[in-house]
Amino acid sequence: MSVGRTVLLKISDNQWLRANGTRVPFIRRAVSKFMPGESFDDMIGAAKATAAEGISAVFTRLGENVKDLAEADAVATHYLEGIDRIRDLKLDCQPSIKLTQLGLDINRELAYGHLRDLAARCHAAGNYLWIDMEQSPYVDVTLTLTKRLREEFPHIGVCLQAYLFRTREDLEDITSRGIGVRLVKGAYNEPAMVAFPKKSDVDANYFALAQIMLGPAARAAGSRPVFGTHDLTLIQSIRTHAQTTGVKPADYEIHMLYGIQKAAQLRLAQDGTLVRVLIAYGDYWFPWYMRRLAERPANVWFVAKSLFG
Ligand SMILES: Cc1cc2nc3c(=O)[nH]c(=O)nc-3n(C[C@H](O)[C@H](O)[C@H](O)COP(=O)(O)OP(=O)(O)OC[C@H]3O[C@@H](n4cnc5c(N)ncnc54)[C@H](O)[C@@H]3O)c2cc1C
Repeated sequence: MSVGRTVLLKISDNQWLRANGTRVPFIRRAVSKFMPGESFDDMIGAAKATAAEGISAVFTRLGENVKDLAEADAVATHYLEGIDRIRDLKLDCQPSIKLTQLGLDINRELAYGHLRDLAARCHAAGNYLWIDMEQSPYVDVTLTLTKRLREEFPHIGVCLQAYLFRTREDLEDITSRGIGVRLVKGAYNEPAMVAFPKKSDVDANYFALAQIMLGPAARAAGSRPVFGTHDLTLIQSIRTHAQTTGVKPADYEIHMLYGIQKAAQLRLAQDGTLVRVLIAYGDYWFPWYMRRLAERPANVWFVAKSLFG
């Protein structure tokens, strides 16, 4: 892992900056590249615009490691109301949540109760619920709660991270249960004990895992294959693999983040690939934004440019 990436990921964990970084005007200006705004309506405006371009959406209200009961309840209420509004607007826009935002650090059953409410509301609205993956100590509990949820609700999916050594085994288990998988490379600062330190190994593992997701066992179990990446070489390899093994473009999806690789998103959609864009909003964006900077240290130039207006 590069020094720049490590430093940015360490900054993302700093408690003081998490609380105060969003007040710095030039950082606020720079984040607008990745976020249409802080409100739910800003997100809806962006989702309508991308829908007009043939790209559906996933939405997430930024927040993590909530330590206050009332705040976790408020987050759940926000999502419940959001799912209703999206149903009324008839938008193809799916929620994606972090368990620590629903109170996992306070109490596991509290978080599960909120998660279940959201899955039930999505089910009633004909929507789909995505569960994000956080740092490695949360992987076991996230997968346990996802599997429990799947016993009641069919339309759910979870994010798995290709940088973790354990993911192959997790992927086989999760896909065999018909749970959807959004495969990503992984965004956190993980120790070499649990994750591949070299990017080339992460990329190779991603492609190997993608092949399992598109393979006969996962498909027969009804697992929805989603590739959350902006890596155009990898996307091309996945598309070629799908084509040569007879998997139709309608049977898998590419998800990217709002504001990243926009031209490629449009090209893929025009080419018949199912593309969704994940739109993040909310006022707790500092750690999330630092992870976006870490993914492409050249992004730091955007921040520097915003400093000068
Ligand atoms: C839809 C979606 C959901 C995600 N959910 C999670 C999650 O739940 N848990 C988790 O750990 N991670 C999540 N991630 C983040 C993911 O783990 C990676 O950190 C991120 O996608 C960057 O990796 P990459 O696959 O795009 O490949 P990379 O090899 O990092 O990037 C490929 C190319 O894409 C471009 N690019 C990538 N990132 C950026 C950026 N920030 N700004 C500008 N250009 C960029 C660059 O040109 C780069 O060369 C998610 C990503 C996506 C797209």
